Amino acid sequence: MIRRDGGQCTARYSDGRRCDLPGNDVDHIVPDSLGGSSDMDNLALLCAWHHAQKSSSEGGTAAALTRKSVHRPAPTHPALDD
Ligand SMILES: [Zn+2]
Repeated sequence: MIRRDGGQCTARYSDGRRCDLPGNDVDHIVPDSLGGSSDMDNLALLCAWHHAQKSSSEGGTAAALTRKSVHRPAPTHPALDD
């Protein structure tokens, strides 16, 4: 996998250029917390910076799911019931 990715970060910038930093971190493309496997197909090299960016966005998603799970529907006014 390191050989496949050329030892280089596989992330791309928004303009399509590939990051040219060395890939020092192994990233799960689908996080293992979301059921991602540890197969080569699900692993990619990232530089430390891109890995931190991706990890922080995944943390934000998990926090959003937690917030959603504690959301309760607003009670309806009794006069509005049929
Ligand atoms: Zn990078």
